[in-house]
Amino acid sequence: MSSTILVVEDEPAIAELIAVNLSFAGHKVLRAMDALQARTLVTAELPDLVLLDWMLPGKSGIQFAAELRSDDRTRNVPIIMLTARTEEQDKVDGLEAGADDYITKPFSPKELLARIKAVLRRRAPQLTDDTVEVSGLKLDPVTHRITGHDKVLDMGPTEFRLLHFFMTHTERVHSRTQLLDQVWGDHVFVEERTVDVHIRRLRQALTLSGHDNLIETVRGAGYRFSATQTSSVGSY
Ligand code: CA
Repeated sequence: MSSTILVVEDEPAIAELIAVNLSFAGHKVLRAMDALQARTLVTAELPDLVLLDWMLPGKSGIQFAAELRSDDRTRNVPIIMLTARTEEQDKVDGLEAGADDYITKPFSPKELLARIKAVLRRRAPQLTDDTVEVSGLKLDPVTHRITGHDKVLDMGPTEFRLLHFFMTHTERVHSRTQLLDQVWGDHVFVEERTVDVHIRRLRQALTLSGHDNLIETVRGAGYRFSATQTSSVGSY
């Protein structure tokens, strides 16, 4: 399971230690020394998770967490606060600012990776290795195998990621911008019509088992993956 993780930490030795361990575990690591740098990185690429130090020069980690939570684009990015503070009230403040979890320094790399995995499982199921199934359509992230009513369905890596995201976020409308952020990790340098191209390919791949109707075009808004979809709205 590989995720893009933004590490916001001003102490170089700690940042380096975290980065090395995350890279070794197969994650892509983005690094920032303060909230300002972090903001620039987040604007360019939406991370799957943010490891956020509490005590930062300039804007504090708590302030930055609240900022991420108040912005539609970053509202759902999981945040784990890193801190040297052990006061119970601090933990409450951190969680109220929008952090999903909290880890106290010093921590072992093993503990950090376990916390990251737990938070991602809870907040971003498309990034875990759990098999998902919707209406007879089954996707296995480990073997990269997709079956529809036990027929093997063949598709490219982008369609696979798109389908994985849809199947773990059903019944919601996703705009093209949101899909670019979630599936491509980039909404700035990839054109929105790229999404339409891959949706078309994905529908094509799902035709064999009749699951193409699960992808609904919501005019002027984006796409929805709906297990309750019958057959009327799917075309565009
Ligand atoms: Ca610090």
